[in-house]
Amino acid sequence: MRLYSVNAGYFKLDGGAMFGVVPKSMWNKANPADDGNMCSWAMRCLLIEHGNYRILVDTGMGSKQDEKFFSHYYPHGDDSLVKGLAAHGFTPDDITDVFLTQLHFDHCGGAISKIDGKYVPAFKNAFYWSNHKHWLSALTPNEREKASFLRENIQPIEDSGRLRLIDAADGDEWMPDIRIRYVNGHTDCMMLPQIKYNGTTILYCADLIPSAAHVSLPWIMAYDMRPLDTLGEKTKLLKEAAANDWVLFFEHDLKNECCSLIQTDGRVRVKDIFPLSELDKIIEAR
Ligand SMILES: [Zn+2]
Repeated sequence: MRLYSVNAGYFKLDGGAMFGVVPKSMWNKANPADDGNMCSWAMRCLLIEHGNYRILVDTGMGSKQDEKFFSHYYPHGDDSLVKGLAAHGFTPDDITDVFLTQLHFDHCGGAISKIDGKYVPAFKNAFYWSNHKHWLSALTPNEREKASFLRENIQPIEDSGRLRLIDAADGDEWMPDIRIRYVNGHTDCMMLPQIKYNGTTILYCADLIPSAAHVSLPWIMAYDMRPLDTLGEKTKLLKEAAANDWVLFFEHDLKNECCSLIQTDGRVRVKDIFPLSELDKIIEAR
């Protein structure tokens, strides 16, 4: 198995919304806000090359939305999903599977392109993976979550005939060496891939723990549908992760890609921060 970090670009979200009840005097040190109180975030995807599979986890927001939409989210920088894949020697046509942790626009927008006014899969050789419960909730969103579920990111996947729904139970294998963990605090049935790599477990944290700062238990996004469920899910997974020396991979952290954990005084904290490219070295040193 080989793992590649693929940055699909940066965008901005309101700092208060990203850090929930945590006061700005604290979160502004972790991710300083601009004059409009907006913080920059990465859209960091993970490419898993395993046997004949090349599985892309999440796709960033893509580029097909209109100016008005982008004016709310300030995409910036030179990174893009296609450039990020090319940096590792891949093209979109090489991808066999697109695993969508959830269908919020910043996770799945890059899955569908708009060509000559038509919405088509950006990865034409790939199957697209979601699950029944999340898929239904994305198609019939509540008012609070509606702005994150864009019909043009979702319906064309089904229309293309490439949609596949995962029915593995929580903690079970979906593909060899890739287990799925389901969490419901952020949105209905978000999926976190738990990857067995070289004897170590890597957890792709998606929006359960979007950045290293969010490892701290009360740091929960105001975007979450059920923040107390997030608290329970974070508590449980972080304990398991720390007890078993897992590595966390952060989708939205501006700079930090991965971390290891340590448990002291009953609290799980970040131990070492490192880029995915140093994972082999970290594992070797264990
Ligand atoms: Zn997100």
